[in-house]
Amino acid sequence: MARAKQYAERVNVIKRIKLGSKWPFAPVVEHNGRIVRDHVWVAGRDEHHPEGRYYLEWYEAGKRRRKPVPKFEDLLQAARSKSIELNALKAGLLLSPDAPVAPEPARLTMNAAIDDYLDYIRKHRSLRTYRTYRPILGVLFRNSYTKTYVDEVTREDILKFTSDCFDLGLVPRTVYDRLVTVLQLFKRHGHKGLVESSDWPSYVETIRPIYEPEEIVSMIRHADPDETMLIKFCLVSGFRDREIRYVVWRDVDFRNSVVRVTAKPIWKFRPKNYEERAVPLPAAMVQQLQELRTRRNATPADLVFPNTKGKPNSLHIEIVKSVAYRAKLNCGQCVTKHGNKCAEGPYCQRFYLHKFRHTFATEHLRHGIDVRTLQGWMGHRDIQSTMVYLKGIQSKDALVKVNAGSLASYVA
Ligand SMILES: [Zn+2]
Repeated sequence: MARAKQYAERVNVIKRIKLGSKWPFAPVVEHNGRIVRDHVWVAGRDEHHPEGRYYLEWYEAGKRRRKPVPKFEDLLQAARSKSIELNALKAGLLLSPDAPVAPEPARLTMNAAIDDYLDYIRKHRSLRTYRTYRPILGVLFRNSYTKTYVDEVTREDILKFTSDCFDLGLVPRTVYDRLVTVLQLFKRHGHKGLVESSDWPSYVETIRPIYEPEEIVSMIRHADPDETMLIKFCLVSGFRDREIRYVVWRDVDFRNSVVRVTAKPIWKFRPKNYEERAVPLPAAMVQQLQELRTRRNATPADLVFPNTKGKPNSLHIEIVKSVAYRAKLNCGQCVTKHGNKCAEGPYCQRFYLHKFRHTFATEHLRHGIDVRTLQGWMGHRDIQSTMVYLKGIQSKDALVKVNAGSLASYVA
């Protein structure tokens, strides 16, 4: 194993590099007494690592100390200075930094802040969120940020990150989302207002596609009883695909006319954002669910929309496509990535489960449900996600409107 070169007395030069998902320290490679830029020893091999930061490493009062050196050009001088300082300490010419004289406040390095934040996300958010954030912060931003400490951040660093993203060929919508993630990290450490409104990448917000009333009526007319219940439920609950898959009878509160999204550990299902929630249902829907439950003689733990074996059904989307095809609603023009033409079978890409959720949100806003209320029903963490569906809605009596709106009439 190659050892780090000791620059003068007991000061090593090392570099923090990326290996897989980790950021270990590695000894630098030297040639003819000079540090070879961006070359480090990894498991006895000379490897090129342009990412990461250089550090000095030394021992003081038996403790290992490290200090980053942002610029490669400053390394040698920094190592020499540190060595002189250590010798002076040893000779009693200098007070140890450990002595109770003006203790320096601990400054948080960017690398530590990123690791800390990712750790927080891993523990408190979904695996999907963690997997999204990890490359954004752990790689993209870590490589983009040129300073050592979190508190050194300025607007320029954020703008640099944005342009780095564009240089990688990312589209504005994606850059926007990544910027949100990075700013969340800084917000967690008390840095707000880093960008101005004009700094945000602009993009055209896609309009959420919804089903037209005629399409809904036609689908219901061409569906069998089980399919009808699924379609009606998707429409009036606004549930996400997985929420529909795992809804059990216990979640349906017949007395209060609501359906809940609750965790189902046996299927490893938990609500997105860890938030359980309740959505009010039209009375007609509650009544039909009651009848279905009685007909099936179902227990509270049984799924409402199971497959033929009573297990979670992952093919609900096929049901929607098949009903749309039978109702002759296919657009007749699209082709799936597997080459299936919607003119010839149940493959139309205009029909899918999530579109019921879009329809749910849009129709409720049209009928006067306010955005805050809808946010709760949708289970959106941020109001912005709900705002996408419409802006500037007045709040009025929500449940009355659920029953007075056109959604209730579809299922009656
Ligand atoms: Zn189609």
